Amino acid sequence: MNKNKDFEISPAGTVTDSDMELINKYARKQLSKDEVYTFTVVLCDNDVDRDYEHFTADTLEKLSQMFVGVTGIYDHEPSAKNQIARIYDCKCEFVEGKKTALGEDYMRVVAKAYIPVCDASREIIALLDSGIRKEVSVGCGIEKCICSICGADMREHSCTHIKGEKYSGKLCCGVLSDPTDAYEWSFTAVPAQRKAGVIKSFLRYDDDDYETMKRAAAQSERFKSYMILETVKAGVTAQIGIGSELLEKMVCSLSAEDMIKLKALFEEKSSQLFPVRSQLDITGKDKDISVNSEYSI
Ligand SMILES: [Zn+2]
Repeated sequence: MNKNKDFEISPAGTVTDSDMELINKYARKQLSKDEVYTFTVVLCDNDVDRDYEHFTADTLEKLSQMFVGVTGIYDHEPSAKNQIARIYDCKCEFVEGKKTALGEDYMRVVAKAYIPVCDASREIIALLDSGIRKEVSVGCGIEKCICSICGADMREHSCTHIKGEKYSGKLCCGVLSDPTDAYEWSFTAVPAQRKAGVIKSFLRYDDDDYETMKRAAAQSERFKSYMILETVKAGVTAQIGIGSELLEKMVCSLSAEDMIKLKALFEEKSSQLFPVRSQLDITGKDKDISVNSEYSI
């Protein structure tokens, strides 16, 4: 999965000996302090994002370990030559006094990265030095996206809650847990005219996408309510000996597919109990198609 967010990228300041020790673990030849440019980047945090998802503190802790050594690209030209920065140190930190949208203590993954100074990297270094806002994107493997309302894994579509909707005043979010891999990170300089320009149309695409998903989910929720009602009705008609209230509770926990099966079973039982005696004789005994006699009552 990929996650995009606006974060500050800032020059790291003085490069220390311990920085150099970490950096030189990755360098082909031993680099000196004036041969590297270092900067810090916030990769991700535990706040609710545009998709109404958020990482847990535990996930961030694990990701901070996984991102060490991973190279990053400057996203405008994602070719090999742009794989310019490498993370050499990464940690999780709380930001004093800051809370997430859900009121939890704000936590973020801060990485230190370096770029070897050379002609090819001069432009990007100048850009990083200017300290403008960047959109940072991280790619990582996440095993579970847990529904914050009921605890079901939302990837398995096992619940009908919709991310971004409120249930009894509680915002439904996907809680991202169990990271398996951190495979990439990239950053794009976000122009000052962001609110008016190019990037916004890109974001709108995301929003539309989300709206479509929300509509589809709402539709499936309506279908589920309809199926609960119909299955309970079929059960009562089939005289299965379970009260409608209890039956409804039982049916609610079923998947739509199982409800369809159960409803069919109930209907079959009903048809054995009360065989339908049609007033229309369609056995063909007295059938005379030419005069549509099978439709005469
Ligand atoms: Zn749920």
